Amino acid sequence: MTREDVATRLTELAQQAEACRNCALGSSRTRAVFGVGNPEADVMFVGEAPGFHEDQQGEPFVGAAGQLLTKLIETKLGLKRADVYIANTLKCRPPGNRDPLPEEVEACKPFLREQLTLVNPRIVVALGNFAAKLLTGSTLGITKLREREFKMRDGTPLMCTFHPAAALRGGNAANGIAADFEKIKAALDTLPEPSADGSEQLGLFG
Ligand code: SF4
Repeated sequence: MTREDVATRLTELAQQAEACRNCALGSSRTRAVFGVGNPEADVMFVGEAPGFHEDQQGEPFVGAAGQLLTKLIETKLGLKRADVYIANTLKCRPPGNRDPLPEEVEACKPFLREQLTLVNPRIVVALGNFAAKLLTGSTLGITKLREREFKMRDGTPLMCTFHPAAALRGGNAANGIAADFEKIKAALDTLPEPSADGSEQLGLFG
């Protein structure tokens, strides 16, 4: 697919998410928060779910956690926020920022699956427990998962780190996320260039 084809399909999917009522969150959200960024990004971040500010603005990671994510992208990866692609596991805000329910994650999964397929990044980064568990299929917590190496079904490296909101609270997560972004940078620098054969990507997670 060309960059324009990918961008067009992502826009169509965003419109579908805006109209989606496949779980109860579709009735309580202000706006769906589909995703944002470069449709041909080398790095795709997957977080948990929209918070208050994201729900109001329709864009992921725009509050304090988003500012930290942007700073890490710029200072650790040497990229701009617009160079990467950012999405969440859930496209709609759970009331009161409660944890996503399993049926909500299941209902929303097709959107994320197609985003991953379309953007086809060279590295996927799961931010926090929910994204890490969904993408790895593991029941382990983020502290363990961030120490392990994973690949998506198509072989794309998958790295796990703390959610920026957890890092804002300080402690291990603050130091850990900075160290993990250095690992992401090192992995990016050593990955082979993507093939330009235009081969189709199949499902990336179950
Ligand atoms: S969270 Fe996902 S599945 Fe649920 S209504 Fe929103 S877009 Fe649809």
